[in-house]
Amino acid sequence: MDWSLCYPAFVVPDTQLVTEDHALKPLTKPVTIADIGCGFGGLLVALSPLLPDELILGLEIRTQVTEYVEDRISALRSQHEISSPGLYQNIACLRANTMKFLPNFFTRGQLSHIFLCFPDPHFKARKHKARIVSSTLCAEYAYVLKPGGCVYTITDVEDLGEWMRRRFEAFGNSGVRGEDDGVETREGQGKGVFEKIELPEEGKEGEWVVEGGEKGQMGMLVRCIREETEEGKKVSRNGGKKFVSVYRRRKDPAWP
Ligand code: SAM
Repeated sequence: MDWSLCYPAFVVPDTQLVTEDHALKPLTKPVTIADIGCGFGGLLVALSPLLPDELILGLEIRTQVTEYVEDRISALRSQHEISSPGLYQNIACLRANTMKFLPNFFTRGQLSHIFLCFPDPHFKARKHKARIVSSTLCAEYAYVLKPGGCVYTITDVEDLGEWMRRRFEAFGNSGVRGEDDGVETREGQGKGVFEKIELPEEGKEGEWVVEGGEKGQMGMLVRCIREETEEGKKVSRNGGKKFVSVYRRRKDPAWP
């Protein structure tokens, strides 16, 4: 990946990495946060000033939506060029089908956070294979996340939240037989790769935020996915419910 076009402010000056067919400009740091199916980029824009030291990437399958987010980011960069030059330099958006290409973008253990916000529910059973959480895709999320890194999920469809929970909790759990289109879960049968984190109630994230540290950051991020995503705002306007979960990637015993 040549990331220099996405994050020009983070390119190492006067350096090129020359491979057989490319000359890449390396960045000072890797991307560590991915918003999968980022839509119109509300979460990216909200996270940029909150996590100024992280490089954050939105991945979106629709070409026109991706172009809208790219334009939105470059307009924000220009608007703040003089007053706050670093602002919005740490976010970018790429067009990609993450169901096919996620491991092409990231190396093993590269990411600290993955956001799956309001994924398309694909209600009909024959469409379930298009959902962006499945046993197979859990393997990819586990691969690109570092041990201790977290997947954040939010949906207004309770059944889909439950579907995602069953798959994340079953993945890598030897006490559970996982299938892509009908995971059989036997609760409490052992530890899988992902551990579900207990979260503050809606509206009480502030109590975590004041505690600071990792818990404080999680409270802030949970508040962001509830309130700053375009879909989250739409659900609030319609008085709907939001189901949030966070899954921490356990340390793999094979890791040093
Ligand atoms: N996350 C945004 C939010 O919360 O406002 C948008 C949610 S929208 C319901 C789901 C988004 O996921 C759509 O923009 C859709 O194009 C995108 N999407 C669906 N499948 C995808 C895939 N395989 N790879 C990347 N994006 C995908």
